Amino acid sequence: MGSPVFEISKDYVFSAAHQIRFHGGKCERLHGHNWRIRVFVRAGELNRIGMVIDFTDLQRLVAEIGARFDHQNVNEIPPFDQLNTTAELIARFFHDEMAARLAATEAGRVTVARVDVWENEGSLASYREG
Ligand SMILES: [Zn+2]
Repeated sequence: MGSPVFEISKDYVFSAAHQIRFHGGKCERLHGHNWRIRVFVRAGELNRIGMVIDFTDLQRLVAEIGARFDHQNVNEIPPFDQLNTTAELIARFFHDEMAARLAATEAGRVTVARVDVWENEGSLASYREG
């Protein structure tokens, strides 16, 4: 038996353009997606009112991270002016940004379990630290 873990998630959707550098195929041309980001956070202990974190607070945090990309060219938004704009690297970016915010606000009680990024229905990349 492991220790109990509660996990919740919140979705954030943004529309943006990008191109995959060095792809060599059609993804190298400028095109767009409606990206869906799903951030899973976890806690072994709930807060005083029985939550991992309020869904509204989680939504605000995910939107803070994601708003910079909405209706933009992701390739122009740091760090993706240097990094390729793959779903994998976007998932890692949301993970790291969310981890930093949770460390500041939840003092280690709540951590990021996983981030899923859909480029379109059926194309999913996940990032977790394990
Ligand atoms: Zn694409």
